[in-house]
Order: sequence, then structure tokens, then C-alpha cells
Amino acid sequence: MIIDCHGHYTTAPAELEAWRKRQIAAFEGGGKAPSRDELVIADDAIRTSLENSQLKLQRERGTDLTIFSPRASFMAHHIGDASVSREWSTLCNDIVHRVCQLYPDNFVGVCQLPQSPGVRPETCIPELERCVNELGFIGCNLNPDPSGGWWKEPPLTDRWWYPLYEKMVELDVPAMVHVSTSCNPCFHATGAHYINADTTAFMQFLTADLFKDFPTLKFIIPHGGGAVPYHWGRYKGLAQDMKRPLLKDYLLNNVFFDTCVYHYPGIELLAKVMPVDNILFASEMVGAVRGIDPDTGHHYDDTRRYVDQLHALTDADRGKIFEGNARRVFPRLGNRAAREVNASGRRA
Ligand SMILES: [Zn+2]
Repeated sequence: MIIDCHGHYTTAPAELEAWRKRQIAAFEGGGKAPSRDELVIADDAIRTSLENSQLKLQRERGTDLTIFSPRASFMAHHIGDASVSREWSTLCNDIVHRVCQLYPDNFVGVCQLPQSPGVRPETCIPELERCVNELGFIGCNLNPDPSGGWWKEPPLTDRWWYPLYEKMVELDVPAMVHVSTSCNPCFHATGAHYINADTTAFMQFLTADLFKDFPTLKFIIPHGGGAVPYHWGRYKGLAQDMKRPLLKDYLLNNVFFDTCVYHYPGIELLAKVMPVDNILFASEMVGAVRGIDPDTGHHYDDTRRYVDQLHALTDADRGKIFEGNARRVFPRLGNRAAREVNASGRRA
């Protein structure tokens, strides 16, 4: 089985974006915001939005289950206030839940948190609990920078975030560290802001003892870990200069990297530098880069091909990247899949 730990509902029907525009216009103009009930999308529209994109690509590429969350660039936590963010997040999580209900074999949910700049992260706990306990979601996306490129929040290791971490540990769900759009013209959203945030989160984890306080807390740093694998010697050396323990001892039980790196040499480096236990298969499709690489004739985000090409891996190691590690990092996925095996007898 191949589990893709990083997919977003980037192809949601246009009514979702239209609702959001009305919500923003109401906030800015002081008018009445639309209610969530005013968004009406038929099941068939959801099916169509997936059949020609994510589902088609799953079938073509031979992947099975996508850990699926709302569109990251649309989270836009900087817009409005905490109440605007709460309504929008609830709506986006509900539509992902509908996807997971329509295609339970293909998608399992991860939620968007109703973060808002300067607002304490514990305000996200009710939505996290709702998504996990009521909707069956298995993780969350945590935005380290709800300001959208201006970096106003304390680092992820600050006690500011601790109440949310306590709830994540209690619910046994990991977070993918995932920013949203960039309002800072210096940072292109997917080309700079995303990769900066991945790198920044790792460096924040490196400088503090967060995982002494939360030994079971888990984060996935997406997009191959930003600059981290490429500059592993720098991070190892910085930690050494700071008299920190070895990175493998104090970070690698808690921090994981996905394979959303869109060329083979990048994946090869990731697999050389990082222990195989810390790598989770992902494609982020349909996402940031949708084209075909003229050098290979294949889609950049067809990341399964790169992992298949890693001949140095044993089959057991490849199985960890494709499936086993995701089950460890998302314990609720294990429970869910185990139940399915028992129910259907298909997924041995
Ligand atoms: Zn993403």
C-alpha cells in the first residue's frame, strides 16, 4: 500500500472560493457575513472535482490513500479575525470530510486550524477536537506564521504553543508544519515562503528542548524539509557549536520529512542524509507544481517514480517510506486502516 501523506483539496468547486470572497467582502465592508449553510455543493460536484485530478493521478501513479487537507494557500489565516478564520476553517474542514466520506478508501482527513495572527493557539483546540473526534481526521496542519510572511508569532518551541501541543499529544495526532499564502512581496508563496518556513521550523526545533517537554509530539516538515537535508552539515555543526546533543538523539524521534521534492537528485539526497525512518512518501498533488519536466517527460510531482528509482533501498525500507512510517507518525491512521482490514479483509 502507498500512502501519500500530503495532499490538499486544491480543486474544490468554485462555490467554495466564491463563499470565501463574500466572507472577506463582508468583513472588510462591515456587512453581514454569509453563513456556512449558504454554501451548497452537490456530491456530484465534489466527485467531478476529484475524478479528473487527484483520483485520476492516484490511479495513474499507483498510490492508494492520500492524507488530505484543505488547500493550504487558501487558509490565509491573516485575513479577518479569529471568528472569520474559525468559520472558514470549519467550512474547509467540512468539505474535506465530505471528500473522505465519498471516497473512504482514497482519502483520510487532516484539518486546517482556525489560527489568527496574535491569537492564542489554544483557541484552535475545539476545532481540532471536532475534526479528530467527530470527523475522524488524523492530524492537523499547523501554520507557524499566520501573518502570511511577516513572522509575528513566537517560535514553535515557545510555550505560547504548548496548550495546542498538549491537546495534540492527548489526541495522538501529529502536525504538518505548513504555512499559507505570502502577503510579503519578497517571498513567493510556494517557491520561497513554504521552503523558508520548513527550514525555519527545523532550526527552531534545533535550538530548544521542546521534545523533552513533549516526547511523543510529532511534526512533519513538508517539501523535503526545505533546506535541511541539503545543509545537514550546517545544522549538525550549529547544534554542536551550541553544545546541543546529537540531532538524531533529540530531534529525529519527533521530526519527519516528506518527499515533496520534485526531482530525483533531491529525493536521492534526502534518502542519503535522513534515516529512512524519518521519510514519509508524499506528492502534494495536485499542488504547487503541476507541469511536466521536459527532461523526464513526467510530472514533477509524480514523486513515486523518484522513490521507486532509489535502488539502494531495500524493499523493507521502501515499504517504510511508502506506508510504515505514515502509520507510525499518524497512529490514528493505523487504527483506521486496521479496522478496514478487519471489515473488508482486503487490506492485508
Ligand atoms: Zn502542502
